[in-house]
Amino acid sequence: TKELGVADDLPKSRAASKVRSKSRVRNELSIDDFSIGETLGEGSYSTVLKATLRKTGKKYAIKVLDKTHLARKNKSFTVKVERLALIRLGRAHPGVISLYWTFQDDYSLYFVLDLVPNGEMQSLISRMGSLSLRCSQYYAAQIVDALEYMHSKGVIHRDLKPENLLLDASYRLKIADFGTAKILNADVEAERFVGTAQYIAPELIVANESSESSDLWALGCVLYQMISGRFAFSGLSEYLTLQKVKQVEYTFPEGFDQNAKDLIQRLLVREPTQRLGAGTPDSSSGMSALRSHIFFDGIDWTNLWTNPVPPIE
Ligand code: ATP
Repeated sequence: TKELGVADDLPKSRAASKVRSKSRVRNELSIDDFSIGETLGEGSYSTVLKATLRKTGKKYAIKVLDKTHLARKNKSFTVKVERLALIRLGRAHPGVISLYWTFQDDYSLYFVLDLVPNGEMQSLISRMGSLSLRCSQYYAAQIVDALEYMHSKGVIHRDLKPENLLLDASYRLKIADFGTAKILNADVEAERFVGTAQYIAPELIVANESSESSDLWALGCVLYQMISGRFAFSGLSEYLTLQKVKQVEYTFPEGFDQNAKDLIQRLLVREPTQRLGAGTPDSSSGMSALRSHIFFDGIDWTNLWTNPVPPIE
């Protein structure tokens, strides 16, 4: 089986062909190497199953994609992008879901992923109504840290939302679902993409332009939602929601924390380059300005992924 590495992301390079030929010699993994457990979730084109690699006893989540269904729905491209993005990101950041292997048989494609057992942020918000300020601060910090990493690797998520933020065994966050990502300097064209109305940035609606900054807009929407339990932008129909996004028309409920409000107001800015955290692609000055915002006071950025998780409330 192909071990995923950086070279894997460079199909035309010598390194990649070496990896390929080497992988043919190795024994390919197949679904039979796993004992399959419960279904963790269903996507539009996929089923995600709990699985244990028999040889090691290690548990994973396997995303199974039906080839016929993918072809029929013209979604092969999405799967290709997801695989490329996850390979590009490697298994290097705790806030990004890791891809271990991919393989296929006549009927299905398989992605072997980190098992992220505590479900989606969306379910947590629904269950709790909203999250405490401390929790919201903690998760916003984890999103910032993961985004900085993803952007440094040239991956723009473009569909950041609570459904795509998974919670691991300790309730730390992992960003998932890279099927609609934009991968910079890759052999794959970014597809025209309309994200999710409540989190989509105005420039994507108006001009189908996206940049790292589009993820910052979504961060503003997610933070608003964690604290208040409701969408920043919500209309009676998708069309009306999009109108509100274009006008940056939203209000804060009474009693909304001032520092959080200030941060959100600096993220939900129509002009992408003016959002807090936006900077030239290869400078991290933008993100460090974001980290320094007063809302994040008290966050230990160095130990963000190892310090105890605040009580979930
Ligand atoms: P759609 O394709 O409709 O956008 P999706 O992207 O959520 O759906 P999947 O990524 O296949 O589809 O995920 C389906 C479900 O499985 C999700 O609800 C998610 O919570 C769960 N899931 C996905 N990946 C994992 C994982 N690594 N560990 C645990 N659960 C997961």
